[in-house]
Amino acid sequence: MIASFPQKVTFSQIAEILLEIDKELAEKTHAKGCPYCGGKLDKGYYRRYPAGSPLDKLLNLIRFSFCCREEGCRKRVLPPSCIFFGRKVYWSCIILVSVALQQLNVKTAEQVEKRLGVSLRTLRRWMAFFRSIYLQSRAWFLRQGFIPVNLSAREVIGGLYKHYVDQKGELSGLVAFLSFMAIDP
Ligand SMILES: [Zn+2]
Repeated sequence: MIASFPQKVTFSQIAEILLEIDKELAEKTHAKGCPYCGGKLDKGYYRRYPAGSPLDKLLNLIRFSFCCREEGCRKRVLPPSCIFFGRKVYWSCIILVSVALQQLNVKTAEQVEKRLGVSLRTLRRWMAFFRSIYLQSRAWFLRQGFIPVNLSAREVIGGLYKHYVDQKGELSGLVAFLSFMAIDP
């Protein structure tokens, strides 16, 4: 099957999946304790407000985060996240899936805009980001050795997305793809 934005999956289902993945990632981080001093971590969740997507309304967004309990350390520890792409306040799901769709040529940019609520300008900026800056980033460097397929620079995101969807089906493929992008291997 050609990879496409899951037809039968609703935005609220995706929001739930993302939140579930983020919860799991957060629990793992919490269990490990402070990476700086080994101390116990306290919850310090805060809300973020990503802009520009129809998903905005569906979820009260929580960025899971922790704070070290040890006096003298007290560092903030952020677990990996599927919802938040790096430090950028945006739906990583939308960005990644949009970029994937564009790279795979399965939808026109206009269709992506209409369906996902991402403007053409935003989409172009992100596509340029993934073609250049991202390929030189530490995040990509860490993932490179774990990519299960051969991909050219032009299709890193799209090709990866398609690989997972082909293997696992639309929904599980999307989850696998987003998890891969969220976690440092
Ligand atoms: Zn600490």
